[in-house]
Amino acid sequence: MIDRTSEIDILVSEVGPRDGLQSVSTIMPTDAKKAWIAAEAAAGVREIEVGSFVPAKLLPQLADTAEVVAFAKSIPGLTVAVLVPNARGAAAAIMAGADKITLPLSVSETHSLANLRRTHVQVIDEAVEIGRLVRGVPAERRPHFEGSLSTAFGCTLEGAIPDAQIARLAAALMDAGCDEVGLSDTTGYADPAAVKRLIKLVRGVVGDQALTGIHLHNTRGLGLANALAALDTGLTTFDASLGGIGGCPFAPGASGNIVTEDLVFMLEAMGLRTGIDIDRLLEVRRVVTDALPQEEMFGFLPDAKLPLGFAPATVLETA
Ligand code: ZN
Repeated sequence: MIDRTSEIDILVSEVGPRDGLQSVSTIMPTDAKKAWIAAEAAAGVREIEVGSFVPAKLLPQLADTAEVVAFAKSIPGLTVAVLVPNARGAAAAIMAGADKITLPLSVSETHSLANLRRTHVQVIDEAVEIGRLVRGVPAERRPHFEGSLSTAFGCTLEGAIPDAQIARLAAALMDAGCDEVGLSDTTGYADPAAVKRLIKLVRGVVGDQALTGIHLHNTRGLGLANALAALDTGLTTFDASLGGIGGCPFAPGASGNIVTEDLVFMLEAMGLRTGIDIDRLLEVRRVVTDALPQEEMFGFLPDAKLPLGFAPATVLETA
């Protein structure tokens, strides 16, 4: 639920350096990643998923994650998030000092086997081990551990996944030691009604406090509509990527994740404080296009610009 005593109303979590870059074939130089992260943090973004601890031979684009985490940790006030596929990756994430660790669990077992070569039981075993590793870290440095229910809105291999299976896996992640679960529309299959229905289903299993975030893609153009549906249910953390980088190869012209710039504009226009300075956020695009000139950047606000007289929800200090 929205907490008006907090500094911000909605946490926009930038996932471009992970989800965006893993979907583009070009490898972004480490210095460009650092410049991107620093510029976005300077624009007011509070949380950035900076990489993934996967074997470099699988995702060479993210082979420098440990170095990028170390750099991001030097930025005051930034929550440094990473994705891990297993306990080995979690150990590396803890060693690097990540603040938040996300383990994806594909609710479609076919997808889980195809992507991670692991059954549900095997992924839950990894979650149990990660829970143990996380609890071994002194409380003041302990990372937040999230289990992400990926392909939650449907799978390209299996189609719709039964509710009972999603509910069972959400409970299993919490039992394994996750601090919370998240919903992830990996395939861009979600619609606003499905978003509301699944949030209600998963909350019924894990409780309202253990489901606060959602990860949406804009594959079929429903990204912001889905975000609005999630907002209506009281979710407060939204993943997005700058320029929607990493567009869907199966849907030319469609961005990957929902576009950070457009999401922040929608939220601020609605009077919800993100803490992000939109003008400065728009300037960050140049850092990405300079490093990856051949990659398409998406979003409406960057071309249309802010409406005349636009007043953001956040009153920003002029430094
Ligand atoms: Zn994604």
